[in-house]
This record gives sequence, C-alpha cells and structure tokens, in this order.
Amino acid sequence: MAITTLNIPIERAEVSKIEQVDFDNLSFGSVFTDHMLVCDYKDGQWEPPKIIPYQAISLEPSAKIFHYGQSIFEGMKAYKDSEGQVWLFRPLDNFKRLNISANRMAIPELPEEYFMEGLKTLVKLDAQWIPQKEGSSLYVRPFVFASGKGFHASPADEYKFLICLAPSGSYFSGKVKVLIEEKYSRAANGGVGYAKAGGNYAGQFYPTQLAIRKGYNQVIWTDDHAHEFIEEAGAMNIFVRIGDTLITAPTSDRILDGITRKSVLDIARDEGIPVEVRKISVSEVVEAAKNGSLKEMFGAGTAAVISPIAGFGFKEVDYELPEIEDSYASRLKKRITDIQFNRSEDKFGWRY
Ligand code: PMP
Repeated sequence: MAITTLNIPIERAEVSKIEQVDFDNLSFGSVFTDHMLVCDYKDGQWEPPKIIPYQAISLEPSAKIFHYGQSIFEGMKAYKDSEGQVWLFRPLDNFKRLNISANRMAIPELPEEYFMEGLKTLVKLDAQWIPQKEGSSLYVRPFVFASGKGFHASPADEYKFLICLAPSGSYFSGKVKVLIEEKYSRAANGGVGYAKAGGNYAGQFYPTQLAIRKGYNQVIWTDDHAHEFIEEAGAMNIFVRIGDTLITAPTSDRILDGITRKSVLDIARDEGIPVEVRKISVSEVVEAAKNGSLKEMFGAGTAAVISPIAGFGFKEVDYELPEIEDSYASRLKKRITDIQFNRSEDKFGWRY
C-alpha cells in the first residue's frame, strides 16, 4: 500500500456506546460501532471521505435507491490477534469487487485511496470494538447507493459511499440443511449475479423463506436455464467433496467471485487436496449421495468462513451427509482463520 497524504477528517462521537455491548453474546451484524465513514459523489466526482459518529442519514423520498435499487455493497472482517494487533484479510480484493459491482450497476467507480485509507482510518479509530473471542470479529460493511433524486428511470447523479462496522459473533451455529432449488433462480446469464447488488439478495429472500418453511436453512441455487447445475449456497459459494476431490463451480455472470472461495481453492491445492473447478450437476451430487461417495458439502463466504452442510433436499427426498473426521471443511477453515487471526505464517500474503 502506497503511503498517502489523504488526511481523513474525524468528528468523534461525544459518548461511546461500547459499554452497552455484551461482547460475549454478539449476534451477527446487529450492533454498530461509534463511527462511520461517509463519502459523497456530486457534480461528477467523489468528494474526499470523512468520519462522523454513527447516525441516521436523511434522503429525499425520490432518491433513486428507493425506486431503482442502485445499490452495491461489500462484506469483510477485521480481526484482532492475541497481541491486540488488527488485521484485514485481502481488503484490496473487496475494493476491486466493489468497483466491478459499481460498473455493472452504472454507479461511478470509487478511487482506491478513498476506500483503502477510509477503511484503515475507520477500523483503527474503532479498533477497541473488535472482539477477541474465538469465532467473533468486526464485520465491515462498505456500501454505495444512489442518493440522487428523481423518478426518471436512469442512473442517479448523486451517490453515497459509507462504511459501517458491526462487532459480530458467528453467522450460523452448527451444520445447515439445504434445499436444492428447482424453480427459482438468483441470477441469469447477462444479469447481475456476479455483482454484490442489493437486489440480488432481495430476490433470494422469498425462495429462502419457502425453504425455511419446509425445514431447511438455506437454498442451493441452480442455473437459471434448467436447474441442472448447482451454483451457490445461499449467499456463499458452494463446494462439494466427492471421494477425495473437492469441486466448486466456475465463476460466471451468475456467480459471485468470492474471496473465501478463491482462498479455499489456493489452500486446498497447497494441502495437496485434488481440486476441480467445473460445473457440478445436481444428478452427480444426488448419485454420489446415493452411492456414498459424497463426503462433504460446504458453503464458503466471509460471514461464516466455511459452513458445513449436514444434508440436502431434492425432489421431496432428503439426503444426509456422513459425519467424517478430519473433514476438508474443518482443515480449510482452520488454515484460513489461522491466517486471518495471525496464528500462522501467511504464505500467500493475504493478511493486511
Ligand atoms: N456468493 C454470494 C452471493 C455472496 O453474497 C457471498 C458473500 N459476499 C459469497 C458468495 C462469498 O463471497 P466472499 O467469500 O467474498 O465473502
């Protein structure tokens, strides 16, 4: 990271809320730190960011975010090691992905310096909010949305970029049961599935509610064409282990290029695990479950890191996965979290 001269103005909160927080019983993303970063796009350019106390923002009812959904976000975490040092994990990748999403949603790209310096300054300022308990971290949510007004269905002329921080416990507790989707799709070719656009998530809620009503925790998304191939696990990338081979779907228009996914792939290869990046058909997974060669399935994403799947439903039949010792999921999760929490060597240079 280049040394910059960007001096971000900070307006400090008069009173900290930290004493009100029970750090031993944190849920995910529901309490927020004392400060937030704000940056406005006006008159054709991004203005320098500033840090202010975490607070409500005011918008016109005609702000285009409310009508046309121009909104994108990122999700990352800050970790505190046993010495109290603070780390981020591959933050530049989040910055790059935010701008990939921005391009797709006709939102002006952010300057790298505003994102990276803003992020560092904010996380340093609220560093005492980073939980040190195993499994907990400070969830970092950068986001951009259309604040410009008008009912004309066209890109806004004003935007806001914010970063908010939420000390968080683990995302899921325990293994999840998933339903392989046969009707709904989260993304299509030529669509916005590869962007972290707000509407992608809104569109997932209803099919996920239906799956929850049937007793599942999450939906496994399949391709929009014939629901023939598995693509993502809720808001995570999907991995399956058949025999000793770890397989994940290739990224595409429809699949988010997950930072955990690519880290899992690098670590798996480093561990000598046979890895394949290729389409995974539903029938292959069902067949493998029936003949016992399906050893593991897991989701991979920042929030849960790795979320093991206990079983899946497909065409009204439930399939259970075996309990296995020394699972790839637990090995890979340990390697990633050891890097994130500065408990191991960082041979890939991911810690920041
Ligand atoms: N797919 C989707 C749809 C997601 O929302 C996420 C979470 N960002 C992921 C995959 C995992 O991406 P990452 O590992 O970068 O968090």
